[in-house]
Amino acid sequence: MRQYLNWKTYLSIMALLIVGASLYYTNQLAGKLADEERKKVQDVANAIKKVIISNNPQETDFAYKIIEQNTTIPLIITDEHNEIISSKNIDSTNSLNPKTAMHDKLSEFKRIHAPIVADYGTGKQYVYYGESYLLTQLRYFPYVQLAIIFLFLIVVLITLSTAHRSLQNQVWVGLSKETAHQLGTPLSSIEAWLELLREENPDSEAAMEMQKDLDRLKLVADRFSKVGSAPQLVEENLVTKLEGIVDYMQRRAPQKVTISLHFTDRDIPVNISGPLFDWVMENLIRNALDAMAGKGTIDITVTNSPQQVWVDVQDNGKGIPGYQVKKVFTPGFTTKKRGWGLGLSLSRRIIEKYHHGSIFVKHSEVGKGTTFRIILRR
Ligand code: ADP
Repeated sequence: MRQYLNWKTYLSIMALLIVGASLYYTNQLAGKLADEERKKVQDVANAIKKVIISNNPQETDFAYKIIEQNTTIPLIITDEHNEIISSKNIDSTNSLNPKTAMHDKLSEFKRIHAPIVADYGTGKQYVYYGESYLLTQLRYFPYVQLAIIFLFLIVVLITLSTAHRSLQNQVWVGLSKETAHQLGTPLSSIEAWLELLREENPDSEAAMEMQKDLDRLKLVADRFSKVGSAPQLVEENLVTKLEGIVDYMQRRAPQKVTISLHFTDRDIPVNISGPLFDWVMENLIRNALDAMAGKGTIDITVTNSPQQVWVDVQDNGKGIPGYQVKKVFTPGFTTKKRGWGLGLSLSRRIIEKYHHGSIFVKHSEVGKGTTFRIILRR
């Protein structure tokens, strides 16, 4: 359960609770205010009745005062035939046609509240009413407030994630450049020594083997220097490239592991940085090898379309549990004893940032195997 509930879930639940509580509270307040307003309108209706039926000047005076005191709630008073007798706190002077504006208001009030009837025996008057400005504000305010908070949070989150990404970028670039730089000096020195060795002993087998390892080390240094700066993309045939990688990895894989390449189209030119693309494929194949106990199959399938090329790397290893699938590209995520958790995050960086493609787990099933897919743009 805990694996599913990460900090984002907790934060979202908290946010929903706060929003819910705030909406509930203002709703309660608005409800109370609405009750108060209905009571006030009731008083006005009573006062109207008094004005009509009372003969006592003091009483009518007092009733008028009550009617006058309402300066907030908009009212329309009609007779039994729905004719408007008077209105209060409604400003229709700005509208083009004040009469229709008043009738529109009346329909609006009819929709929101039942009228309060002032029954004075020989006839009736109906008091239709709306909501005071304060009540309207109170109803909308929480939504406006939440929208502002929401916008603010989005800006903060975007800023934080940009800052985070740029920091990550700096670390990748800095570390890669530094590594390439530090490897450079001993490499050129070994190269010189090797040259000397070969001059003295031209057929030395040791010198030949050392040359192979030196070439490999130079390749590693080259990869680091390419990650440290925007690499040049060069048109290469993808199938030929993959054949080379499969051949290289097959020779280093356990005997009972078969790595095979499938394609229908032999000629697929793509723009790639060769050394970096090799690195990604090596990472994927090495992970696939790690996921199986010394035997199994790794199938690399190339699917070609006019706009995209897909490279699927499918293994029949132990698979990735559902809750981990989203994390495998996170720097530092590893389930291996000696893992660094950087292979896939580096691969994603190479494919997305330098090749403008994408890489993701296409499918994975525990006990059955995993398929990673790389999409490259043609
Ligand atoms: P590392 O290999 O150092 O662990 P990666 O970033 O290459 O770092 O991989 C991260 C994690 O993703 C691995 O530790 C493993 O749990 C999981 N993973 C990657 N590829 C596979 C695969 N083909 N099958 C099963 N698990 C995988």
